[in-house]
Amino acid sequence: MKEEYRNELIVAGIDFEEGRHSEEKILNADEVMKSPGIPDKAEIVKKIRVKGIPVISEIELAYRFKGESIIVAITGSNGKTTTTTLIYHICRQAGMNCALVGNIGESFAKQVAKDPRPIYVVEVSSFQLDDIKAFRPDVAVLTNITEDHLDRYDYKFENYIKSKFRIAMNQQPGDYFIYCADDAMTIKYIDTFNIHSNQLPISMKKELPNGAFIKDGDMYVRTGQEFTSMSVYDFALKGKHNQYNTMAACVAATTLDIRKDKIRDAVQNFQNLEHRMEPVATVRGIEFINDSKATNVNSTWYALESMTRPTVLILGGVDKGNDYSLVADLVKEKVKAIVCLGADNARIYEAFDSITEKIVETASAADAVMTAYQLAEKGDVVLLSPACASFDLFKNYEDRGQQFKKAVKEL
Ligand code: ADP
Repeated sequence: MKEEYRNELIVAGIDFEEGRHSEEKILNADEVMKSPGIPDKAEIVKKIRVKGIPVISEIELAYRFKGESIIVAITGSNGKTTTTTLIYHICRQAGMNCALVGNIGESFAKQVAKDPRPIYVVEVSSFQLDDIKAFRPDVAVLTNITEDHLDRYDYKFENYIKSKFRIAMNQQPGDYFIYCADDAMTIKYIDTFNIHSNQLPISMKKELPNGAFIKDGDMYVRTGQEFTSMSVYDFALKGKHNQYNTMAACVAATTLDIRKDKIRDAVQNFQNLEHRMEPVATVRGIEFINDSKATNVNSTWYALESMTRPTVLILGGVDKGNDYSLVADLVKEKVKAIVCLGADNARIYEAFDSITEKIVETASAADAVMTAYQLAEKGDVVLLSPACASFDLFKNYEDRGQQFKKAVKEL
């Protein structure tokens, strides 16, 4: 355990143990709060469940102590961090006293314990939702549902879908549920859940009486009687996926009664996040983009979808059961070469060998950047959007993105 965490526990007078479990202690607990990283198949968790000890997640604990404060909770397969950060940014710009917690920022429980606020903007993973009981966000956002983390759900997509919809499970008629009406999986399953809150869908494909939609380059938001509108060209976040994220954030902000001019300003001056379609540099006419955070095929789909020039795609890492056929058409249309950056690239070859002119294997960020640079020509883009987790060759996706950027800067 890191020294700082150990010290924190000591100072707070919290008993802890390291490097082992004392089963008798754990199995005598009244309740167990489980870190979302620990899978249900872990021996100790199985024993806890067999004994019938209630298991909760950390957001559930925080919820019990949050008092009257408002919770805006964001989940989904992709776009969580972007949407959460944008909602937080809008709230801050509107002068609200809010905190950014959950998967990003401080832990929700710690924030509630040490520095309570009237509004919490919480990024929530499906693992956190698995062990909620009463957790009830005033405003819930479900960005989309695509296959991810199936290893944790017995490889059953339905289990993962159910887990995501738990975000609305305890909501009441005065609460809001924002979701993407263009997302096939959300729409397929939404009616199988008993949702009591106000549903506010977002769409780019059809006009909606409630929620928000984009038509001919303008976004319209309606949560009450009036429409607000804004040109998508004024969104700070570019790309189609970010138009969904921005719409979701604007609807959420509107339910919090934030004035539309404040929302408009905040959406315009938001700074994009590192490792998400982040432009790094243009070297001899070749543009390098860092989308290291794209750890599943759907993210890579959106990245490729937004490419307007021939692309050299850097792909690969730890494959969590990817279905590469989803990007096959885009690869055929836009990708001139694939540079593999992973320990095992067999599945990438299998998926793309027949449709891509060139596939090359590399084993470090520097090697991948150099190889991609040589394959690209003036006017092309080199895109790192790996569709895979990073921990075969890197510490995490941030490390992968930073090594990529460093290598680009050294060209
Ligand atoms: P998350 O926190 O859910 O992992 P991020 O906001 O960090 O999501 O974005 C991760 C990647 O997913 C981005 O690099 C981007 O390519 C892609 N992405 C972002 N928003 C969406 C969306 N609404 N739909 C599909 N893909 C998205």
